[in-house]
Amino acid sequence: MNFYLSCTRCDTHFGGLERRYRCDCGGTLDVVHDPTAFKLKREDLDARRNSNDPLDRSGVWRFRELILPLGDAALADCVVTRGEGNTHLYEASKLGASLGVARLHLKHEGENPTGSFKDRGMTAGISMARHLNMKQVACASTGNTSASMASYAARCGMGAVVFIPDGKITYGKLAQALAYGAKTIQIAGDFDDAMVLVESLCKTEDIYLLNSVNPFRIEGQKAIGFEIMQDLGWKVPDWIVLPGGNLGNNSALAKGLVELRERGLIDKLPRMAVIQAEGANPLYRAWSTSEAIVPMRADTIATAIKIGAPVSGDKSLRGLAALGGVVAQVSDDQIMDAKARVDAAGIGAEPASCATVAGIQKLVSNGVIGRNDHVVGILTGHLLKDPDVVVSYHNGQLEGIDSRRANAPIKAPADIDAIVALLRA
Ligand SMILES: *Cc1c(COP(=O)(O)O)cnc(C)c1O
Repeated sequence: MNFYLSCTRCDTHFGGLERRYRCDCGGTLDVVHDPTAFKLKREDLDARRNSNDPLDRSGVWRFRELILPLGDAALADCVVTRGEGNTHLYEASKLGASLGVARLHLKHEGENPTGSFKDRGMTAGISMARHLNMKQVACASTGNTSASMASYAARCGMGAVVFIPDGKITYGKLAQALAYGAKTIQIAGDFDDAMVLVESLCKTEDIYLLNSVNPFRIEGQKAIGFEIMQDLGWKVPDWIVLPGGNLGNNSALAKGLVELRERGLIDKLPRMAVIQAEGANPLYRAWSTSEAIVPMRADTIATAIKIGAPVSGDKSLRGLAALGGVVAQVSDDQIMDAKARVDAAGIGAEPASCATVAGIQKLVSNGVIGRNDHVVGILTGHLLKDPDVVVSYHNGQLEGIDSRRANAPIKAPADIDAIVALLRA
């Protein structure tokens, strides 16, 4: 075994295959790797992109020694992969110019098999579940984690139980959980309530917990950063910008990049900016006052980041410190305006993803991100995850949102002359 688990709070160690999600002190756990165990070269990782091996073709398992170093034979027995990752890194300098930044790339994690970056963490988490011989998995979710878990569980015949907030989940995401056959429990409460319930369920029942409190989820999500570096020919950008909700993803990005540098695969670290919605901003408050994270009741149109009691708060603050990170907050109106621009650029993403772009604009105008910096923004989820909000926006029907870039449908009679006249006008 080349890895063990360590408490982020009190540094107590546990075996790498011990089934636990927290330390007895309540702290979250890290997977700690042995940095001397493998000698990995950029060329070897690049060569795997041309291989037909399913492990090499996955944008997570291509980096397997850095994610779940069980050895190829053990992995072949337990890995459940849908070829996740390999998402497009869009050159977006035109959009960047409108935000005030010269060099912008957008990594579209909505192009994963179930439409969000959660697939990267899920392939690692579910594979560990199989390695541990688990038969059932569970999660609480604002939607994307449940969609992903339901799919990966179905692929390997495992039972899936998802807890979702009642009435506050988008149709695209709810549809996926139902379609992939997960037992879907809509609780009368919000995400934070659901999270408490599912953690206690997995303590007493023989069910494996697959929220991002599970340290192996975090390990899989590190691959977003690895793949960005590989996409850029291992040239490190100045900034990586992403939204923060439960704060697993930014924790994963930071952990992965620090490990990549320890192994000499990159020669410096990028800075990181985490963007929160104003109505769901516990990390922003803690970071800007240098105080501990205080849970709050969350409210934002960006349901994927509508989380008031983030599970990975400690890990997130540690990652921010390691990467010279900053935290910004943006309003729902700014999120929807940024979304209209990302969508109209032909890229498209769900609202939470577009907090990234609204945040870049804010940080450029504050002078935190330099106008000549190279910025990589992460788009976390697919446009079609939340079609209701798109149609409502373009029809000018979102309360408190100014639909400045509305592209409303045009009503016309079924008459060619009238339509030609309309299009010529
Ligand atoms: C899960 C999710 C987030 C938030 O990521 P965290 O790891 O919870 O901070 C942001 N956007 C989308 C689309 C998501 O699904």
